[in-house]
Amino acid sequence: MQCLIAFDGLSSRDLPALLELLPRSRKLLANLSKHTVSYSLNSAQASWAELLTGVNLFSNGCAGYAHPTSSLNTLAVFTEADLLAVPKTIEPSSGSTVAVVNVPIILPRSRDRLWLADGSLPTNRLFSPSELSAESIFKSYLPRAYESHAGAARLPQMALVNRCIETESQRLLCVASLFQRKGLSKFVYRLSLFDQLAHLLGIRFLEAADLSSFGNLSNFLRELDDVVESFSAHGNLQMSFISNYSHEPCRATLNLNLVLAAGGFTQLADAQNLARASTQRMNVATAMWKPTVHNLTSLEGCLDTSRTAAASPVAGCIYINKRTVFDDGIVDDDNYLTVRGKVVSYLQNFLISQYGSSFEIEVHPSDFNKTKAPDLIVKIDGVEFQNLSASMAPITPLTTHVAKGFALLPERLNVAEQISATQLASLLND
Ligand SMILES: [Zn+2]
Repeated sequence: MQCLIAFDGLSSRDLPALLELLPRSRKLLANLSKHTVSYSLNSAQASWAELLTGVNLFSNGCAGYAHPTSSLNTLAVFTEADLLAVPKTIEPSSGSTVAVVNVPIILPRSRDRLWLADGSLPTNRLFSPSELSAESIFKSYLPRAYESHAGAARLPQMALVNRCIETESQRLLCVASLFQRKGLSKFVYRLSLFDQLAHLLGIRFLEAADLSSFGNLSNFLRELDDVVESFSAHGNLQMSFISNYSHEPCRATLNLNLVLAAGGFTQLADAQNLARASTQRMNVATAMWKPTVHNLTSLEGCLDTSRTAAASPVAGCIYINKRTVFDDGIVDDDNYLTVRGKVVSYLQNFLISQYGSSFEIEVHPSDFNKTKAPDLIVKIDGVEFQNLSASMAPITPLTTHVAKGFALLPERLNVAEQISATQLASLLND
């Protein structure tokens, strides 16, 4: 069996501290070969889809948890049915079953996977096949620690931290139970906890032994240690550990839509229309909310699409408002390249003036992108994108994401120290 455990949010610099806190499985982890993993695009929110499909977001269409549907003004949660490529990394071989726990994006198309949701969908508890929800062990499974943003915002910081630890601890019980199922060929478990703590406590939190939450965290890590050790006793198992993204200190936030509006590319809706859209927008934002992850703040209904040539409804992603792709699109096919070129040069000038050279703009490789994948991806080092209107003053978070991960792989795979996500995907599929 192929078993993959994802410590998302940690960087390779966190590994020594993590190993200290996992005394029983330390030897197992230390014996694996250590690799840094790079992604083809500088976008942490696209890293899982790249690992699952082996191709980047321009080819797999997945730019994060949400994507525009019939209009740049309507967003939906991204599911497997929206992928433009097959998620090979979690495909079962014939006659076997794959178990997937808390992996972003994937609401399975079919019943051939045992799947516990990651909390990105509006319903907090969701299983596939749905019969799993009747099993007593899964009754306690909550993919995210809170039902809503509003509820979480009322909790004091340490209560939030402890709620995240409890939720992961419950998930771990479900994981241990699922692992016992017969006929599994692949098992994938992603922890949310390290990502959440990086936002709530800042980077290098594994070394912050003086924090009052540290006792609870080390108790959880003891539980994790036991589970990893018990997995390793399973015969015929290939175990790998990865992190699909890490964190860096956040120095600023930026609303790309306001930048595009200043350049004449985006027209925000007037106050009357905004008010009308705000209830719907709040519903979507609440449904998509995960603790302090700002990727999902929604722009639902905020645009005047009849006067918008390009906008950023998903954090860091810019879409040209194409007539052939969106029902209310206004950019004709003949104009696509010109508009895209204008947006790129405008953004380049703006970003150089604000951030020097610490940014990247990736452009869709084809001359006409007829898909709902974004046309441009923007990444600015240490800057968190915040799409909501300027009147909602954004709070600068402690950390933001960076598309740099690591992999601890069986030594026999014999690969270079630095590998790409595509390489990692094919190693995990062999
Ligand atoms: Zn994060």
